[in-house]
Amino acid sequence: MTLIPTKTPLVAKKMFPNYIWDIPTNEKILYLTFDDGPTPSITNWTLDILKKHEAKATFFCIGNNIEKHPDIFQNILNDGHTIGNHTYNHVKGWKTKTEDYLEEVSKTQKIIEIATRHVPLATHTLFRPPYGQISRKQGQNLIELGYKIIMWDILSFDWEASISEENCLQNVIKKATNGSIIVFHDSVKASKNMQYALPKVLEHFSKEGFIFKSLKG
Ligand SMILES: [Zn+2]
Repeated sequence: MTLIPTKTPLVAKKMFPNYIWDIPTNEKILYLTFDDGPTPSITNWTLDILKKHEAKATFFCIGNNIEKHPDIFQNILNDGHTIGNHTYNHVKGWKTKTEDYLEEVSKTQKIIEIATRHVPLATHTLFRPPYGQISRKQGQNLIELGYKIIMWDILSFDWEASISEENCLQNVIKKATNGSIIVFHDSVKASKNMQYALPKVLEHFSKEGFIFKSLKG
């Protein structure tokens, strides 16, 4: 079992006020995010489901995966979703020297910039630390470089093999609220739970009048 809560407590958000945990609003808006792609078949499946529900999302891509799957990366772009940076090798901030961590981010940023150069006015300033692990120094450096550090309000725990598909779904349905940033993964590891929960999350909240937007950055 894990000690990380499904919904980030206010006290944790207040400890790190420079990071973005949710987008405060009175409107029925949710922000779906997908980490760790692009991944063959899973990312395209995700794009199809999102399109069916006219939902926009944010994809925090691993640099190495963008290089391996440039066509899938272009599909994300073509569907009008937002791209975020998730390091080149999915490294843990607490175990990586700041200099090396910043290099992981800038290497990925260059790959994103080249792959999106044909998109007019595209800006890519969003960064999500793998595992949510980032030192204060690393975070401060990235903010000074112009990145917005995107954390989350709700974890679906889709990657966690020990939880059932239904629990993954309920994690989101019970806890998400106006302006929540919700974490899913377009990865092989998470696919069993994610592919069960995502269509039901989209249906449930659409019926309740919510719309799904991408983060801006
Ligand atoms: Zn990740």
